[in-house]
Order: sequence, then C-alpha cells, then structure tokens
Amino acid sequence: MRAALLAVLKACTTPVVILASLAAVLPSAARAQGNPDWHRAIPGFKIAGNLYYVGTADLAVYLITTPQGNILINSDFKQDVPAIRKSIEGLGFKYGDIKIILISHAHGDHDEGVGVIKAETRAQLMVMDADVAAVESTAAGRPGAKVDRVLHDRDTVELGGAKLTARLTPGHTPGCTTWTMPVVDGGRTLNAVIVGSPNVNPGYVLVGDKRNYPEIAGDYVTTFALLKSLPVDLFLGAHGAYFNLKDKLPKMTAGSTNPFIDPAGYKAYVAEREQAFEKELTKETADAHAGDTVGFDIAWNHVALSVPNIAESIAWYEKMLGFKGVVRGGQPNPNARQQVADLRRGNVTIELFQLADATPLPESRKNPSDDFRTHGVKHFGFEVKNLPAVLAELKAKGVKMAFEMRDAPTERFAFISDNAGNAIELIEHKTAR
Ligand SMILES: [Zn+2]
Ligand SMILES: [Zn+2]
Repeated sequence: MRAALLAVLKACTTPVVILASLAAVLPSAARAQGNPDWHRAIPGFKIAGNLYYVGTADLAVYLITTPQGNILINSDFKQDVPAIRKSIEGLGFKYGDIKIILISHAHGDHDEGVGVIKAETRAQLMVMDADVAAVESTAAGRPGAKVDRVLHDRDTVELGGAKLTARLTPGHTPGCTTWTMPVVDGGRTLNAVIVGSPNVNPGYVLVGDKRNYPEIAGDYVTTFALLKSLPVDLFLGAHGAYFNLKDKLPKMTAGSTNPFIDPAGYKAYVAEREQAFEKELTKETADAHAGDTVGFDIAWNHVALSVPNIAESIAWYEKMLGFKGVVRGGQPNPNARQQVADLRRGNVTIELFQLADATPLPESRKNPSDDFRTHGVKHFGFEVKNLPAVLAELKAKGVKMAFEMRDAPTERFAFISDNAGNAIELIEHKTAR
C-alpha cells in the first residue's frame, strides 16, 4: 500500500511542481534586509604592503597609502562612514589624506557614502563610465555625488607610486569594476584583485529584459572570462563574504603565511559563481522559450471548487490560509439554487460554487493517494517558506491532514483537507545556499 502510494506520489511530482510554481505568488515575507555584518564595525588591518582593510565586517573598504596621499575603494552606506574613518585613524593614518575615492560598483552598500567622504576630504571621485549616472543620481539611496573623472576599462589610477587598474566586469551593474594592483610586500610583488561582484541578485532578469539592461547576460559572460584570466595572489572583493574574510582574518598572525594570498580560493570562487550564473541563465532561457510555439501569453488565474456550503468554505479559507472571501451579489443565501464566491489572497483566486442539487465529494476523492486513481484535476498547491512551521500553525487551528509531511532532498510537501474534503498541497522548495 505504502509502496503504491509512493509510486503514485513520485509520478505526480511534475504536476505538483507546476501547480506549486503557478501558485508561488503569495506575498512573500519581506526579504531579509541585508546582513548583520554589513554595519558591524571591525578594526582596520593591514592586508599587505600599503594595502589596508578599513571596511565593516562584510562591506569591504580598502585604503591604499602613498607618500602623496591615500586612495579609498568603496564608502559603504552613509551610516558606515564614521566606522571607516575610525578604522583609518586606528591604523595611524589621516582621514583627510584621502585624495581619490573609487568604488566596486554603484550599489548603496558600496557607494552610498561617497558624497559624504568627498565633502569631508575634498578627494576626487573616479567611477567607471557605465556606473557614473547611478553615482550622480539623487534618487533615494543614491549618493548624488559629482564624479570628477570618468573611467574606462583598463584605465589606471596613479598616486604616489601606487598604480591601480580599473577592469570593467559588468553584469552586476553595467559599470561594475574589478580593481587590480601590484602590492610590494616583504620584497615580493603580489597581484591584488578586488572583485567588483560576479553575483546575479534576486530579481535580476538575464533573459528578455529589453528595456533596462538587455546586454546583461553577455556582460556576465565577459566578466567571468576576464576574472578567469587575471593573475591573482591577493584575493579580495567588495564583500568580505566573497573571499571568506571571517575565516581568514583570525589567521593573520605574525610569522604565518598571509591567508589573503589565496589564488586557489579565487579560482574556486569564480568557478562556483560562474556555475551559479549559468544555472540561472539556463533556467531563465528555458522559461523564456517555454511558450514559443504558442502565439499568446497566459498568466495564472484561478481554480474552481464546488462546495456544499459557501459560507463555511469562506470561513475555512479565511481562517486557515488567510484568504478574503466575497460572495457575488452580496451575502450568502442558503435558499438560492446557485451561489458563487471568490476567495483571494495576493494573485491567487479560488472560485467557489454552491449548487442546491450537487452531489457530495466521494470519499475516494478526499485522500490524495486514492484520488490519483480517478482521472481529472486532483489538487492545487501553495508554496510556503517553512513547511513544518506552517503545519504546526495549521494543526493548532485544527486543520485536517490528508497526507503528512514528506521530506525529499529538494522539497518537502504535505496535503491538508479543506472543510469540504478537497486536498490542498503545501510545498516548500529547499534552496541550495
Ligand atoms: Zn551590488
Ligand atoms: Zn554589495
């Protein structure tokens, strides 16, 4: 019995997933706003030679010191500028000696504070051409800072013997910049690479974005080819997480090898990020071409249920799943031959019918495993974030289970019964990282 049931459930995986993805339009809980390490101050430290780390625990800021003044890469958010200043001064340097400000890319976690630092130090702000408009923008969260020098791929920034090269690594932003520089340390010359960002952020559209950034996918391809070609000793980047700052920093002890000299870690990081990009590109390409043989678009609209009592069904869906029910034509009328209602939550609509002479749902249709033995539409599914927590909440409210949670490697799912016996699947897709 159990084996048969499992086989049946396996066979239904595909339709379940399709239904679940169509239903994955419930308002998602607010996306985690950043990361606690973003604004956590840490003391500045020397990486090698005249290259210092003066950022927060994750938002990397670099100081390159020279006899003719210093170069700063990244500003973090405005609120982080005092911590950067403290790190610079803690290392014995003068904040006012910053002569040039550079950035990794035009996102607030790296550039929001450039205007503040520029005003406080009178430094020159130099930005890659395609990110200039975003840096000069006065929109909310943008620095609104005047760019003094517009950079292009391979341009160099020189001051007091230091020489940085700007490499255009577009995709994450159109002007995303990877900085390279030779660092003389203990008689050796080390190639430092400060990765701008190889990441495809949630919500980025790689395929079919004709308006905002149509060349984005090709730009990422260019970026990965370039990143793979760079000679690297010191592996650094715009976020500490890129190069595992957390684990490497405690290893910066006198006499030991410098943990930031990590060409193998760089290679592995770039390869992993390229795979992540390619996976997303493959997925988006498949999605974009799914409807190519059909001359029209479709969007998910609704599912319809015939129920014995519309008022009871509305009450159940409101209590258990947070829908709002509206009976067409006003209040439920027990004497009407036919009543229709709509249940809505976010983009999900369930249409309810109550017909006076309708036949009750057969017992076999109430159990999802048995129901597969009858042809027809079987169930609908909702994607949830934390299925065990969702089930605990529903059980506390007295929900009837139709099928207890099953944990599979990539997803877990369960079925609940609504008040009329309809099976509803709840599915949670596990994320890789
Ligand atoms: Zn970014
Ligand atoms: Zn960032």
